[in-house]
Amino acid sequence: MIRKKLCLLGTSAVGKTSLVRRFVRGMFSDEYLTTLGVKIDKKAVMIGDVRVELLVWDLNGEDAFQKLQMSYLRGAGGYFLVVDGTRPTTLDHALDLHERAQAVTGPVPYLLLLNKGDLVTEWSLDDARVQALEAAGHDVRRTSAKVDDGVEGAFHDLAARMLG
Ligand code: GDP
Ligand code: MG
Repeated sequence: MIRKKLCLLGTSAVGKTSLVRRFVRGMFSDEYLTTLGVKIDKKAVMIGDVRVELLVWDLNGEDAFQKLQMSYLRGAGGYFLVVDGTRPTTLDHALDLHERAQAVTGPVPYLLLLNKGDLVTEWSLDDARVQALEAAGHDVRRTSAKVDDGVEGAFHDLAARMLG
């Protein structure tokens, strides 16, 4: 059995917990460490013939009131940078978290998720911005935890890269 630790990073309320809930869907939930600000879930995915058990670390969001304990990232084989597509400042924050995360994890795979893709009229990241991110080497995906768009694929693709 291959086990991989995957983390979700991003500002508060971008949808990290909702993405995990959508992905894990009533599968076994491990433990809830309220005081430490992290919830760990498990879900197995098949990457080709290989069964990979993902340990999904849903980390507390960073905001003016709480910082992220970067040591939670130790041992992570990959991570999601989660952005709220209706709040451009959450993108700046995600890119900042990315640099700080890589200082802990080294150059592990990651995907940049522009979540809340269902909120079309409030969407605030134009194509030029997305293209610039891609040109800078980021793999960008639009997701919606709410209407279940791109979530399964994002976890699957990141897991596949983590097997690398
Ligand atoms: P977290 O703090 O990053 O874990 O964010 P949550 O998962 O708690 O979500 C914050 C808020 O955004 C909640 O009210 C969610 O219902 C909402 N939300 C999360 N994902 C989506 C999404 O894909 N679309 C919409 N419309 N709302 C979302
Ligand atoms: Mg949360």
